[in-house]
Amino acid sequence: MIGTIDIEAIRTDYPVSSVVGGVTKLQRAGREWKACCPIHADRTPSFTIYSGDQRWHCFGCGEGGDVLDFVQKLHHVGLREAADMLTGSNLPVVAMPKIEKPSEPERDTIREAVEIWRSSGPIGGTPAEQYLRGRGISIRLPDCLRFARLPFGRRRYLPALVALVAGPDDQPCGIQRIFLTDDGKKANLPDGKVKFSLGRIRGGAIRLAPGAVSGMILSGSVEDGLSLMEIEGRAVWAAPGEEMLSGMFLPEPVRSVVIGADADDAGMRFAVKARDKFASEGRMVRVIIPANGAKDFNQELQEMAL
Ligand SMILES: [Zn+2]
Repeated sequence: MIGTIDIEAIRTDYPVSSVVGGVTKLQRAGREWKACCPIHADRTPSFTIYSGDQRWHCFGCGEGGDVLDFVQKLHHVGLREAADMLTGSNLPVVAMPKIEKPSEPERDTIREAVEIWRSSGPIGGTPAEQYLRGRGISIRLPDCLRFARLPFGRRRYLPALVALVAGPDDQPCGIQRIFLTDDGKKANLPDGKVKFSLGRIRGGAIRLAPGAVSGMILSGSVEDGLSLMEIEGRAVWAAPGEEMLSGMFLPEPVRSVVIGADADDAGMRFAVKARDKFASEGRMVRVIIPANGAKDFNQELQEMAL
């Protein structure tokens, strides 16, 4: 075999997670991956793939390096053979969800969103709580929902419910603002639009239940999400808009998903798209719609109270 090995190209084309993920189960840990080491007999996850997906190290057997080192160690081959195995498609390779570094402008909007989040206050006793209680929600409101008076347009400040959006790496990546009146109604704004997102919210979730569990309910809005949590008594994550449902990143522990859809054409369309996406990731998925002809789960909750 002749020819030089383009190590840089191989590193770029084959992220470590895509090759290690083909032989062992990976778990997300912030911007890194963890796994039980496939090179030595490992009972606890000693194997780490570092942020950037180019370098790995095992704290059990002490091995480490790049993707080519991994193939060499795993298959007891030399560099040339390892390169041939990778580029000749002789190894199982899986696509793992990427954690891309945000661009500079994105970092600015994320920073601005997190700033607003930090400067906002607890929701208790504010127009934001009044808004949710007015919609029949009686459960304890999660800490990801807060209250602030925020600028709208150039001249005025409006009360707003501020919902934190957490990204695939568990870090805050944006917010959703729901602008309100002082007596806890939706604000009267042009086009009737009161919900505005800020930051890099794609892939993110408003984690109404803080942690990911094996069986989760997903919803396209904070109001429906809280209603589902109250009706079903289970963990719910909300997308900042039903069109964002299919893009939501779900961590490994989530094995089965129930999608709570709005009972209209758009709601079903977004729910089916999300269902297909999560099913293609090997999860069990079910779509549910509100009972008794209600248009969404918040309406179902309010009708249950009558
Ligand atoms: Zn090891």
